[in-house]
Amino acid sequence: MSNYARLPVTFERGEGAWLWDEHGRRYLDALSGVAVCGLGHAHPAVTQAICDQANQLVHTSNLYSIKHQQRLAEELTALSRMQNSFFCNSGAEANEAALKIARLVGHARGIGIPTIVVTENSFHGRTLATLTATGNLKIQQGFEPLMPGFIRVPYNDVAALRALAKSDQNIVAVLLEPIQGESGVNIPDDDYLNQVRAICDTHDWLMMLDEVQTGMGRTGRWFAFQHHGIQPDVMTLAKGLGNGVPIGACLASGVAAAAFTPGSHGSTFGGNPLACRAALAVVDTIRRHDLVKRAAYLGNRILTTLQRELAGCGHVKAVRGKGLMIGVELDRPCATLVKQALEHGVLINVTAEKVIRLLPPLILTDAEADQISDAVSRLVTGFTH
Ligand SMILES: *Cc1c(COP(=O)(O)O)cnc(C)c1O
Repeated sequence: MSNYARLPVTFERGEGAWLWDEHGRRYLDALSGVAVCGLGHAHPAVTQAICDQANQLVHTSNLYSIKHQQRLAEELTALSRMQNSFFCNSGAEANEAALKIARLVGHARGIGIPTIVVTENSFHGRTLATLTATGNLKIQQGFEPLMPGFIRVPYNDVAALRALAKSDQNIVAVLLEPIQGESGVNIPDDDYLNQVRAICDTHDWLMMLDEVQTGMGRTGRWFAFQHHGIQPDVMTLAKGLGNGVPIGACLASGVAAAAFTPGSHGSTFGGNPLACRAALAVVDTIRRHDLVKRAAYLGNRILTTLQRELAGCGHVKAVRGKGLMIGVELDRPCATLVKQALEHGVLINVTAEKVIRLLPPLILTDAEADQISDAVSRLVTGFTH
């Protein structure tokens, strides 16, 4: 089906931060399959784990206990200081689980129409519930009727959230991204998440964080909420969790962790031995090589170079980022830069029309990081449309 406008290139193999197309041409990957391949391509530890597990056992179903799923849940809950984990196969599915948990918690409290607060410019996925939660008309258009039970406030607006508490008695949860990815690497004020946490505490709302893009070390912490010294009630993961093997997770604490009971939710493939083994290798590799710290260092290195090189550039509105989640916002649409970069052998992304988004792998060398900053600086400086 023609739901993608694809670039005219086909990759055949990858290694680290590099991809090779069918003609043997090499490209530096500053996108990582949209924040998925945090360990780069064909990482030997992940490849080994996938091969070993494929030789042993790929799938059994959740009718039986799954050792690697149990181990992965222990790793992720320890790293995030959350209690329980549910496994699925994508970010949208992880968010569906979060939304269903919120509704269960609401009903258990006697709220007939439990309402979930979401934010403008958010992205939570493409299923009917998650596209309803998404704050982007383009993503919703044509798929009406949307789901009931959502209310929207501006992102990074504590007053708007506080005002809702006065007017709406049905709210059970707030769902938001710690940094908005798809809408242009929007980083809220430093204390925004802390304030949201405080409001949720006051009104007994669940704080649910969509860390599908920000999680797994990308922002320079294992999970972006850890920059702020808070704990969410629910957190969703996917993209970077399996380094390309499809897996999602919904982690929860407190009442949210106990909301699902046997039969209330499920997934045929979710948390199967193959996917969990791959994710265990990802966790182990990030820890073993201290890649969370490395992401913070590399991100800072790229960001400061870009800020320096683009300082006098009239059409650059902002250069922002946290760890290896970096955005360069221009004052005009710049989607054509993606193709120009491709021609120069560099893979970048443009999102929200005007924002160049960089999501390179955490395993970059310093030289590769510099190559990315140089290429992007040159492209932006020469961009005159
Ligand atoms: C990519 C993304 C999703 C959707 O993930 P899928 O695996 O494509 O369903 C949800 N939330 C955020 C923040 C994302 O970046």
